[in-house]
Amino acid sequence: MRRCLAAAAGLAISMAGSTSPAQTIYPIDRAEILAGARFDFKVEFSGLADPTKVSISLNGEDYAKAFGKIANFIEREDGKDQSALILRDVSLARPGNYKIHVTDGVQSREVTWSVYDTGPRKAKNVIFFIGDGMSLAHRIAARLLAKGIAEGKALGKLAIDDMPHMALVATAGSDSIITDSANSASAYATGHKSAVNAMGVYADRTLDPLDDPKVETITSLVKRRLGMMVGIVTNTEIEDATPAAMVAHVRRRREYDRIVEQYFAAKPDVLMGGGRANFLPQGADGAKRKDEVDFLARFREAGYSIALTGPEMASAAAEPATSKLLGLFTLGNMDGVLDRKFLKRGTVGKFPEQPDLTEQVSAALAVLSKNEAGFFLMVESGLIDKYTHLLDMERAVYDTIMLDNAVRLARDWASARGDDTLIFVLADHNHPIGLVGTIEDDMSKEPNVAMRERVRVYERAGFPNYGTPDAEGYPARVDVSRRLALFSASLPDHYETYRPKLDNPNDPTVPGNEPGTYVANERYKSIPGAVFRFGNLPAMINADVHSGEDVILTAIGPGSDRVHGQMDNTEVFRIIAEALGLGAGNGTDARRTQVSPAGQ
Ligand SMILES: [Zn+2]
Repeated sequence: MRRCLAAAAGLAISMAGSTSPAQTIYPIDRAEILAGARFDFKVEFSGLADPTKVSISLNGEDYAKAFGKIANFIEREDGKDQSALILRDVSLARPGNYKIHVTDGVQSREVTWSVYDTGPRKAKNVIFFIGDGMSLAHRIAARLLAKGIAEGKALGKLAIDDMPHMALVATAGSDSIITDSANSASAYATGHKSAVNAMGVYADRTLDPLDDPKVETITSLVKRRLGMMVGIVTNTEIEDATPAAMVAHVRRRREYDRIVEQYFAAKPDVLMGGGRANFLPQGADGAKRKDEVDFLARFREAGYSIALTGPEMASAAAEPATSKLLGLFTLGNMDGVLDRKFLKRGTVGKFPEQPDLTEQVSAALAVLSKNEAGFFLMVESGLIDKYTHLLDMERAVYDTIMLDNAVRLARDWASARGDDTLIFVLADHNHPIGLVGTIEDDMSKEPNVAMRERVRVYERAGFPNYGTPDAEGYPARVDVSRRLALFSASLPDHYETYRPKLDNPNDPTVPGNEPGTYVANERYKSIPGAVFRFGNLPAMINADVHSGEDVILTAIGPGSDRVHGQMDNTEVFRIIAEALGLGAGNGTDARRTQVSPAGQ
């Protein structure tokens, strides 16, 4: 679908002829740039440009003088009648507004950037928790299951809820009101907007997914400027969008082999999750790499302790000599907590010793806290999103409780140290999930009515009866007789059983006869009480989709007082930069340029 739209846009441009649009400039208009942070500057001309007529200035000064380098002029980019100019790896040290003026002698374009500095450092460490796709309904459901409720009052608060600062965060990307996990995590990691499927770059027009104009990530900045350590912890494939966006620069998030190479180049000190398949050389058991490189061996040679199970991770973390830790516990995504601890489904039979997210966080803290200069740790509970796409709400809610347990552990760790650590908890994008009531249904019996008649709303909803949760907040069973009714507002055609899937994660759709389309999975058709639900999305969509509502950020620790009201996702980066004092004046290698900001 995106391809069709792009082709249509191309047609419109060529038909318009001499009135073709002006240049595209990266970073884009209204970009906010941390003083001293690196980025690639690119100008895309709509047609062929004469380099002798091209003039580019920053606040009236020639760009080459302002940046201290000459750009590479590409006469025919991608072999087409389109010129471009690219200047890699520049920075601006002085805060203020910059007007970038570009002309090719015929057409002109001007954009404005705001370069900001920071004050002194307030936080020693930053722990950045992302509940991928975590909606408000996931949080409320997690609270109901883990804490319970009586006479309308919750019997406790989640660690996520019990934090002093909160804000709404807008998630749109540079290309769309609806974001994916690549560009949304990239906005947090770089402070720049990006496009669906892109991370660490502005999505340019060329086909090459590795040549797009880059922007520097928080992990690069904290290592380069402050000597901090970096940890990346998830329960998805480590190459998946959210963890990868902390480090990688790539236009297409599915470039897993390239992402592993970029991890190796960046050397995060702790790197843990699933996704071992793209570290293994072609031909090895379970390998997905398209080359012969053995990245487990490479990381080992580079001084990493390698853990393939939870016990191996724990003993490596307990070893005082461990300064770098790579944990890859499954070939693909790890299993969620409902399968891992309770149902023993998914891939748990094949990978029985996967750690819990809380154990991963403990191990990460043990390694990273050895660094006197502090650390930046990103922790993702990534399957909240994946289960929600599959309309598997029980698994999504259990993984929300697991995120909360990891947050509590980190908060206890930070308060024992005297609160020198900024802790953020937020989602990267929303899912349109609503808590509409309960489902009253004895699962030991076959329903004698269509299951939709068992949905209880308003006063008939009452309260769910999951029972007393265990010490970690998990009820022992999800197949109780009054369960939460959590529905998505974005649906493919599917059969709704209104019952938790105790065998394996839900699988609502299968490929249809028309290429690129999906239809309801007939597997659930014969389940008693199941009803066919017409989708409200195009047939090319096989799942629930992300939605464009703001997400919630809660925060505690030094620098968290800037979290309030409503903000853009790029501002989240700025608050971290402020807390760490990452501005040009505080680091060790700020590259200063001579150009003066406008109005100063
Ligand atoms: Zn998603």
